Amino acid sequence: MFVRTRFAPSPTGRLHLGHVLAARVAHEIARQSPNGVFLLRHEDIDGPRVREDFYAGIEEDLKWLDLEWNGPALRQSSRSLDHEAALETLQKVGLVYPCFCTRKEIQDEWIRMGAAPHGNCGQIYPRTCQKLRETERSKKIASGTPFAWRLDSQKASLITGPLTFTDLRHGVISVNPDLLGDVILARKDIGSAYHLAVVVDDSYQHVTHVTRGEDLLTSTHIHRILQALLGLQEPVYLHHSLVLDEAGERLAKRNDANSIQNLRENGLSPAEVLGMTQPVFEEAIVKIG
Ligand code: GLU
Repeated sequence: MFVRTRFAPSPTGRLHLGHVLAARVAHEIARQSPNGVFLLRHEDIDGPRVREDFYAGIEEDLKWLDLEWNGPALRQSSRSLDHEAALETLQKVGLVYPCFCTRKEIQDEWIRMGAAPHGNCGQIYPRTCQKLRETERSKKIASGTPFAWRLDSQKASLITGPLTFTDLRHGVISVNPDLLGDVILARKDIGSAYHLAVVVDDSYQHVTHVTRGEDLLTSTHIHRILQALLGLQEPVYLHHSLVLDEAGERLAKRNDANSIQNLRENGLSPAEVLGMTQPVFEEAIVKIG
C-alpha cells in the first residue's frame, strides 16, 4: 500500500504558521514512505468566504516553502455531485433529517434546557427537528422554509455498532457518537458541509493517512461513523498539536501578522518560517511503517 496524505486548507484566507505545520506533517509522512504521495485539496465549499486569489496565494506559499504537492490540486467544490450522492444514500436509509432551526432558535432551546449556550453542551444540537412529526416536516418544506440536513447520530451508531479509529500518536480510540451529536451534513445554503465532504473526498483521493490538527480530533468520531455508513475505506489518523501564539492561543486566520505572506514580506527566509514550526513539528511527526 502506498502512503497518500493530503493538506486541505480552505481558501478563505492566506496560510499562517498553523497551516505550515499541517502541510509539513502531511508532506513528511508521504516523504518518509517509498512512492508516498502528498496531495493538495482546496476545501472551498464555504460559500462567500472563499476568494479566488486565496487559491493562488496558498499555492504560492507552499511552493515558496518547498512543500510541493503531487498532481493537480483538487477543488472540493468540483465534487458536489459525489457529496450529494452520499447524502442521498443516507437519506434513503433514514439516517439524516431536515433541520429548520435558526441559530437563535437553537440557542433559545439550550437556554430552555438550562444549558450554558457556550459551554460544552452548547456545541450539541438539541435534536429539536428530529422530534418533528412527518406532517410538520412536509408542511415546512412545502412552505419553502430553508433547511439543513443533520445526521441522526443515535440511529447511526445503532446501525454501525461500536467503532474505533487508529491515531498514530494517540493509539486506538473508541468512537463516541455523542461527542458532536447530530452534525450538519448539508448546509442550508450550499447543499454540503465539511464532515460529509471531507470523508467522501478523502476516500475519492485514496488518502491512507489523514493528518491534521488535534482541534479536529472530535470530528474524527463523526467521520469514522460516516465512513462505516457509506462503506468507505478507513484511513489511519495523525492529529498533531497546534502552533500557538505568544499568548498560548491558537492562531486565527484573522491575524495577518502570522500569515506566511506577511512573514515573507518582512524578509524572513523559507528556512526561518519553517523553523518557527520546528518544535511542534518534531513532536508531531512519527515514523510510520
Ligand atoms: N479544511 C480544514 C481546515 O482548513 C481541514 C480539514 C481536514 O484536514 O480534515 O481547517
